[in-house]
Amino acid sequence: MRTPRQFYWKGLHVPFIAPWSRESSPVSAIIRVGQGIGYADEFSAADRRHGTLWIRQAAVRGAGDPELAGVHPLRQRQAMSHMLCQVCGTSTFDSDFVRWGERHLFLVRAVGGRPIGEGERTTTPPVCRTCAIESVGACPHLRKGYTAALVKRAQPWGVAGIVYDPLTLKPTIPDSRLTEASFTSPLIRWTLAARDVATLHGCTTIDLAQLAVAA
Ligand SMILES: [Zn+2]
Repeated sequence: MRTPRQFYWKGLHVPFIAPWSRESSPVSAIIRVGQGIGYADEFSAADRRHGTLWIRQAAVRGAGDPELAGVHPLRQRQAMSHMLCQVCGTSTFDSDFVRWGERHLFLVRAVGGRPIGEGERTTTPPVCRTCAIESVGACPHLRKGYTAALVKRAQPWGVAGIVYDPLTLKPTIPDSRLTEASFTSPLIRWTLAARDVATLHGCTTIDLAQLAVAA
């Protein structure tokens, strides 16, 4: 199994999906293309996925300073599409996946440890056991703010992105806040995607501490 290069910053493991300061996002003019948006200089198939326009961002991991809590849109998408660990970037179709009855481990932000509901939407890719245990060790408060679950299936649902007004071609919400749009919603054609969104199915809440002990 291919393991991407790992980066550390001031003693912390830099997540695979974290952006780096030199991964610049070029300013690209948005135009109307039929019943949706496009880039004025759009020429590459890489600008779209399943017909949806995606944010452009350079991909040079390790260049500059990492933004540890940030998300690189294209690596997030890569991790969601291929079920890669969001921290180390390796496939979570690993020996634990087999041992857990073909399930992936997800750590989802949940104040008060609320369990993950059936069909709940998330933009958070899975995590491998080693990285989950490492995260808990690095951050003792993690368990309070997160819920861990073994998940049978992550179903592609849509994207989260910046929605453009069809008339003004300006973002409808300021501050680059992201709005979720499903693949079946007409809104998605006016959305500049920044995250893949999946729904989680067959979720069983687990205790990360027990996972660490079992390891
Ligand atoms: Zn990992």
